[in-house]
Amino acid sequence: MDCVFCKIVTGEIPADILYQDDEIIAFRDINPLAPTHLLIIPRKHIPSLARLSEADSPLVGNMVNAANQLAKREGVAEGGYRLVLNCGKQGGQLVPHLHMHLLGGRQLSNALG
Ligand code: AMP
Ligand code: ZN
Repeated sequence: MDCVFCKIVTGEIPADILYQDDEIIAFRDINPLAPTHLLIIPRKHIPSLARLSEADSPLVGNMVNAANQLAKREGVAEGGYRLVLNCGKQGGQLVPHLHMHLLGGRQLSNALG
């Protein structure tokens, strides 16, 4: 499949991987918008939030838990951080493989849109 994040999962495209387990991997965003900008993704290709099923709930829990652990490891847990899931074109999603952004290490804007 021609999906950049699937290629990171298989190792076809290199990435700075910080965490992985049998379900998810986390790596640094190639174009960081904050001192800490990580992406947490499922290994399996799920196109977007809108395509999650109820059976995927533990997977999403795993992604959030990993993000919280990584925030601690990156030293941004105390200061605060943001988890972002963009869904679809108007939601600002560019890569059609589910991913959660972890942003921290600077004061983030209150404006979300
Ligand atoms: P989104 O707009 O939510 O789809 O965000 C996609 C994110 O993926 C952007 O922040 C990109 O900088 C990031 N990205 C795209 N290609 C790569 C890559 N090869 N390695 C790491 N991050 C990437
Ligand atoms: Zn994919």
